[in-house]
Amino acid sequence: VIEIKNLHKSYGDLEVLKGVDISAKRGDVVSLIGSSGSGKSTLLRCANLLEDSQSGEILFEGEPIRWKGTGLNRRPADRAQVTRIRTNLSMVFQQFNLWAHMTILQNVMEAPVTVLGEDKAEVETRARALLAKVGIGDKCDVYPAQMSGGQQQRAAIARALAMQPKALLFDEPTSALDPELEQEVVKVIKDLAAEGRTMIIVTHDMRLANDVSDHVVFLHKGLIEEEGPPEAVFNTPKSERLQQFLSATV
Ligand code: ATP
Ligand code: MG
Repeated sequence: VIEIKNLHKSYGDLEVLKGVDISAKRGDVVSLIGSSGSGKSTLLRCANLLEDSQSGEILFEGEPIRWKGTGLNRRPADRAQVTRIRTNLSMVFQQFNLWAHMTILQNVMEAPVTVLGEDKAEVETRARALLAKVGIGDKCDVYPAQMSGGQQQRAAIARALAMQPKALLFDEPTSALDPELEQEVVKVIKDLAAEGRTMIIVTHDMRLANDVSDHVVFLHKGLIEEEGPPEAVFNTPKSERLQQFLSATV
């Protein structure tokens, strides 16, 4: 679904990604782990074209992003392509970013109706079903501020799913939550993994990464230091940095 090759990204003089390859085939769950500042969020944001990158390829379903310019001037060349890719790679953020002035149902319906121009009644049926699926079917008419963090994050996941994306990108979806609320969200993510959804998940939750992933990538200072199936990465890490990282996070 998504393939990134040799991606380089700098903020001014600061090189944040130094040649990273990551890909997810249909049905893959890939977890991205690493210390704070290693470039995990930046990589996700580049993947969904929220950030520009200076070199390297990004392919969506085999189709390469077309660029104009080079280096710091490189930008996507085709806005329609960007929109298509962004709607197909739905992001879920640490801070759920629900619209405060809209009910939960309106939050979930907004993008399919306004961005994709879908029929309102059809979107509403789908939105209600998605909210029920994530366990908050009774919260359709409530505003975000009236819900717990775990409920808000589940609403944000329903909103991402409402776009019927080809893949979901999660950036630390549980790290703003108290431990007991975290588990509600972990359960939703596990259900999605069991359904065969394609997902890339940035997480500090090593248990989640171990439980749901087909592949785990350890990023260190903008480079992939080690990667592999979760059993290998978590049980027999080869890199000393990964060993240190894992012993510090347990
Ligand atoms: P965390 O686990 O804390 O979320 P991360 O791995 O997601 O960390 P990034 O947010 O990708 O790390 O940041 C990587 C580096 O890029 C950091 O050094 C950060 O300070 C820098 N950075 C991130 N966003 C920007 C920005 N908009 N402008 C300048 N520097 C940035
Ligand atoms: Mg981050």
